[in-house]
Amino acid sequence: MQVKTTRYNIYSYLRQTGEIVCGAVNDDGYAWSFEPFHPFFAMPEVEMFILSITEQCNLRCSYCCYSGEYKNNRTHGVRSMSPADIDEVYTFIQHVIRKRPVQIVFYGGEPLLQYERIKYAVEKALYLWPQDVSFSLSTNATLLSKEKADWLITHHVKLAISIDGTALFHDRYRIDEVGKGSFSRVYDALSYIVCNYPEYVSNIQLLMTLPSIEQLEALAEDWNEDIILHKLSPSQIVGLAPNFAKVVKTYNWDKLRDQYLYLLDIYERHQDWLVLKAFFNGCIAYWKDRPIVEVDSSVPMATCMPVNTKLYIDTNKQIAVCEKISDQYRIGNIKNGINWHKANELALQYYNKRVCRCTYCPAIRMCDLCLTAIEFNDEQWDVLCHNERVYARLYMLLFCEMAERGLMI
Ligand code: SF4
Ligand code: SF4
Repeated sequence: MQVKTTRYNIYSYLRQTGEIVCGAVNDDGYAWSFEPFHPFFAMPEVEMFILSITEQCNLRCSYCCYSGEYKNNRTHGVRSMSPADIDEVYTFIQHVIRKRPVQIVFYGGEPLLQYERIKYAVEKALYLWPQDVSFSLSTNATLLSKEKADWLITHHVKLAISIDGTALFHDRYRIDEVGKGSFSRVYDALSYIVCNYPEYVSNIQLLMTLPSIEQLEALAEDWNEDIILHKLSPSQIVGLAPNFAKVVKTYNWDKLRDQYLYLLDIYERHQDWLVLKAFFNGCIAYWKDRPIVEVDSSVPMATCMPVNTKLYIDTNKQIAVCEKISDQYRIGNIKNGINWHKANELALQYYNKRVCRCTYCPAIRMCDLCLTAIEFNDEQWDVLCHNERVYARLYMLLFCEMAERGLMI
């Protein structure tokens, strides 16, 4: 994989070592090989449990994976976990947990629709694992009243808040059932916390979904001019999850490179714009910290099983590898535990797919495709792999550009 920077320097990436070297070096002939698949019967690393406390949501974000537009996912439902369900889930956790502290994540739907259940779940967990449990809550923050914020912060519940920019951007997608934007409610909640709990702000993650990078320059500028937001950095800026029931674009290298380099020029002039800073740091994160280690034999395939650190439990008390995998893939339930046969079947299906595809792929070390892609057919994988390779090269180019321009932080 090679890139040429705007200063006309050529850099090559070597898959075997993970190095980037100056000049054009071709390593296309290097064949990557994986160790054979080994069935597993334990997941000793699990420490985080993501509880879908409710399927209900008070918003109808247009890109939501529960909007009914995603083929294999549920739609917005009505089910919630009862206190008895939470007790059962905790019995399961006590049985499987090997590591401490226990990490409980409240997820939805919108968890704050079941605020009393959250309180119950926090208090019960503190009783079961005193001093040895931590909490976080993923929320759209529209129901985060002063009283709820006070309680959650007093109980050290970390907050992951979805916010897609200032009102102009956020309200395009994050709307309620009658199509009304939700920004002002999120903003009020954030302002309250920033003003009343400044020391807690570092415990808040701001999650930004960016449906198109074309809006990023204006969004970053607007954010920077806001009296509250300009002090806050998004923790994560992500694109939309692929949805083949609608359309998944095949990205064009030249077009994408020009768009990103244009944005990098803007960032070079406005390095105090926190949204652009977070965006570019996210792009080059892998490249900055990549392992530079020579591979001289076959390697285990990096899959989330059996080494995953988290499990997702839905409102039916079914278990999934994570919250991102589509609803049709469950690997057990809290009554009977993990169904190892099913878990191995899924992991093997994924292993076989990758063994066939990845041997000569330049993106092999930084590929983000994971078990969630098992729902896709071969043509769909072709599109995802193409995009993955385009982005791997793009992020390498950004890494080299940023190093040359002195923008590395
Ligand atoms: S807040 Fe979350 S669950 Fe609710 S509609 Fe938006 S993306 Fe979906
Ligand atoms: S992009 Fe596709 S071929 Fe390349 S490493 Fe990822 S899964 Fe394998």
